[in-house]
Amino acid sequence: MRTTGDVVVVGGGMAAGHLVASMHRRGLAHRLTVLGAEPHPPYERPPLTKDELTGAAGTEPVGTEADLARRLSMYSPAWLAEQGVAVRVGARVIGIDRTRRTVAVDGGEAVSYRHLVLATGSRPVVPPPWAERPGLVHTVHTAADGARLRPLLREGVRLVVVGGGFVGLEVAAAARGRGCPTAVVEAGPRVLGRVCTPVTSAAVARLHEEHGVRVITGTRCVDVAPGEGGAPRVVRLADGTALAADLVVVGLGVRPETGLASAAGLEQDSGTGGIAVDDALRTTRDPLVSAVGDVAAFPRAGYGGRLRLESVGHASASAEHVAARLAGEDPGPYAGQGWVPVFWSDQYHHTLRIAGLSTGYDTTDVGGAPGEGPFTVRCLAGGGLLAVESLDRPRDHSAARRELRAAPVP
Ligand SMILES: Cc1cc2nc3c(=O)[nH]c(=O)nc-3n(C[C@H](O)[C@H](O)[C@H](O)COP(=O)(O)OP(=O)(O)OC[C@H]3O[C@@H](n4cnc5c(N)ncnc54)[C@H](O)[C@@H]3O)c2cc1C
Repeated sequence: MRTTGDVVVVGGGMAAGHLVASMHRRGLAHRLTVLGAEPHPPYERPPLTKDELTGAAGTEPVGTEADLARRLSMYSPAWLAEQGVAVRVGARVIGIDRTRRTVAVDGGEAVSYRHLVLATGSRPVVPPPWAERPGLVHTVHTAADGARLRPLLREGVRLVVVGGGFVGLEVAAAARGRGCPTAVVEAGPRVLGRVCTPVTSAAVARLHEEHGVRVITGTRCVDVAPGEGGAPRVVRLADGTALAADLVVVGLGVRPETGLASAAGLEQDSGTGGIAVDDALRTTRDPLVSAVGDVAAFPRAGYGGRLRLESVGHASASAEHVAARLAGEDPGPYAGQGWVPVFWSDQYHHTLRIAGLSTGYDTTDVGGAPGEGPFTVRCLAGGGLLAVESLDRPRDHSAARRELRAAPVP
């Protein structure tokens, strides 16, 4: 079967969802055909490790995967139908033919495009020996993961979280709220080492310790052994420590989902692993194909190399940029003057917010009381502001965004 599409989007996650909104604002949503592999239309992912895991969303029990996806849904199916947006769920794209301008959907259908947007996102990293044993470890990336995990976080269930990044720490915070004895194992010298300054890492680690989490840093998890006959799993660390666990959650980061793009001969950025795009988010080898969200590796003036970001802010901004271009507007370069990446994380009753990118900072200016209460860390290079991390200081975050928006591109 062959279907004719106009703007075809591969991937039905958050970037695709924001593209629907951006096209809708321009009266162009009817041009979209979204092909998503998951069995749900676009939904919000951040609550999967926040309110939906802590139970703060007030839905007890969590219900099925479909219930969860419906609660987090960005749009109702009725609204999408009214706008004439074709959002196809359970539609995994298995090939792109750039000569014929078609994509092949698993099941035999071919969909032609005038413009193709790759919004395939990313997938969690799980070391192969663990991935091969279903149920041995959990990840949190999809509604299916969320619906599986939440009922398992019961009082007294011993949890080991492997990886001290945002996802791992949010899971740890949710688990403590549900009465689970929890340990976090981080191979690096500090939690959030890839994304935050040492001041913020130390303050966040302390927050977790105050809530009873055992935070173990500087040693790798080398093995997760299944418990025999109802015995707990054994999580072994490189330093010889063995932790008993009823539940193991892995938060070791994600890899961009680039298989389709690479197979179609599109360039993969060697630095970030994402699909290489230009400053208009067009793939470097084919201007009829764009990439948005987690999977896009885009240039940033003065940065030296491409960037790849995993955040709702970038999913939304990149989708807005592509929509503007498809509507014939001139949005200027993506990540140009006025562009400020933002990120947030909720842990316990605290919110950590980050504006800007701290890579390459040479000085920090710390205000407040890190480790004791709200604080702000300003990251500077040569006296210029690069990024601001703040805990429970929303006004500092807003001010930082304004300041960074006005700062010249480095
Ligand atoms: C648990 C969790 C918590 C998060 N918390 C925050 C937060 O607090 N703040 C923040 O800023 N960001 C957060 N993020 C990150 C944010 O959700 C992502 O950056 C965002 O979802 C990226 O959007 P995307 O569309 O690029 O990818 P995704 O939302 O991952 O969507 C990609 C979609 O493409 C589909 N797909 C892949 N290959 C194919 C194919 N071949 N055919 C069809 N479909 C395909 C996938 O199934 C998936 O549905 C969080 C992410 C997770 C997982």
